[in-house]
Amino acid sequence: MSHPEATGSANNAGPSNNAGSGNSAGSTSQPFDVAVVGGGIVGAAIARELAGYELSIALVEARDDVGDGTSKANTAILHTGFDAKPGTLESRLVRRGYHLLGEYAKRTGIPVERTGALLVAWTPEEFDALPSLAEKARANGYEHCEIVDAAEVYRQVAALGEGALGGLTVPDESIICTWTTNLALATDAVGRGVRLLRNHRVEAVTVAEDATTLHTSAGDVPARWVVNAAGLGADVLDRLFGHDRFTVTPRRGELLVYDKLARPMIDKIVLPVPSKVGKGVLISPTIYGNVMLGPTAEDLTDRTATGTSEGGFEFLLDKGRRLMPRLLAEEVTASYAGLRAAIDHGDFLIQADPTQRYLLVGGIRSTGLTSGMAIGEYVRDLIAEAGLTLVPKAELPDPPRMPNLGEAFPRPYQRADLIAADPAYGSVVCFCERVTAGEIRDACRSVIPPASLEGLRRRTRAMNGRCQGFYCGAEVSDLFTNSRNEATR
Ligand SMILES: Cc1cc2nc3c(=O)[nH]c(=O)nc-3n(C[C@H](O)[C@H](O)[C@H](O)COP(=O)(O)OP(=O)(O)OC[C@H]3O[C@@H](n4cnc5c(N)ncnc54)[C@H](O)[C@@H]3O)c2cc1C
Repeated sequence: MSHPEATGSANNAGPSNNAGSGNSAGSTSQPFDVAVVGGGIVGAAIARELAGYELSIALVEARDDVGDGTSKANTAILHTGFDAKPGTLESRLVRRGYHLLGEYAKRTGIPVERTGALLVAWTPEEFDALPSLAEKARANGYEHCEIVDAAEVYRQVAALGEGALGGLTVPDESIICTWTTNLALATDAVGRGVRLLRNHRVEAVTVAEDATTLHTSAGDVPARWVVNAAGLGADVLDRLFGHDRFTVTPRRGELLVYDKLARPMIDKIVLPVPSKVGKGVLISPTIYGNVMLGPTAEDLTDRTATGTSEGGFEFLLDKGRRLMPRLLAEEVTASYAGLRAAIDHGDFLIQADPTQRYLLVGGIRSTGLTSGMAIGEYVRDLIAEAGLTLVPKAELPDPPRMPNLGEAFPRPYQRADLIAADPAYGSVVCFCERVTAGEIRDACRSVIPPASLEGLRRRTRAMNGRCQGFYCGAEVSDLFTNSRNEATR
């Protein structure tokens, strides 16, 4: 149960105090009721969920920003869960997460496009697998898949390469902005009183009877309960608690992003028939108006290897040539890679250790963007079962309304009403992505301001376009510095 002083101090601090750059954790010696380690989508969702109760909570992140780990570099699909392994925790949480995040997106303005997906069979074996995939979807509670013939496949996606034998429709698969999702959840958490501690890498742990001390790169953070949502680092942190139950293998997924001129070619997600190693290489529109080809799936040992490779590039071009030859004639704007936290266990690994007042949230590999909010609910129930008393807060603030980064919805430069009220929204700085000075200023004044130009990119799309900052970099950088200085004055 929450300690009155600790809860009071966390809840009374204003949002900006709660979400500063995070140089000190607890100037207070009072332990937090819960420390959630990891400011990715999963950790932010858990912190937000628990902050609905009378608890003092710290969200402890090693990096200088939330959403700077795997959560920033995925394929950004809001999955129905049609192809999950039936009966697994992952299947249950993806399905629930799909609905939770879909609803949350409406309330917060996270852009979502309900594009639907078409899974395409290219070989007789793949074609023969379609009925069992439709059956699997039903076993996962998803009833809307339909098997279609080759003519219908080409009617739906005319630009596909030759040789498609048939397909399976998944009308509810959607595309979403992963950056805004992470930021909305973390901002909401801070609004509910969570203390965000950036630049706090947990390096050692001391478990005592009354509280655990997380020894971080920026000082000690004491907490009664600890939730480990450290993604690629979850097994390392787990070992600091004395466990030895799993190992994370970073599974790299590389992707190519094609120019916006390619977007009219494809208005839905084109999926392959999944294999044992994963979901396979897909082609998808992105929420920013581009087209994406990827990801690869390559097991590595280096947990920091987020660079792209020549091999990955060649592999994707080869796949793309067969899937959609016309796409290959378009320009590649960018490439990136993300690391899935693959583990030697066929499901999410979410377990509570009541004696240590510690919860592990491990192995959130390929569907954590979709399932994050459902994981939050699941952890809430698990922690309550393990002994933490949860008293709902009498009142909660409304969730934040996030700036729109979606190409399919009006952006500030298109809105005469906004520009009339504030000319900064008419002053375009990044021309490829049409980002205005007003948006850069707003990001710097926001509850969780960016700590770097990379963080600014995830909040505004600045320098995310075909020039990758070549033309606008200097001006964006200047504006960023000035806006930051003004915001902190
Ligand atoms: C190529 C690819 C494609 C994907 N596509 C999709 C998709 O389309 N749809 C979908 O739903 N999911 C997708 N995913 C999966 C999804 O991106 C992940 O499941 C999700 O981002 C995991 O979030 P997380 O919070 O667990 O991890 P992360 O975002 O990595 O967050 C963990 C955080 O913990 C911090 N941390 C680690 N160690 C410490 C420590 N010792 N102290 C303090 N902090 C620490 C890290 O800095 C990091 O910020 C994809 C993943 C990849 C790689």
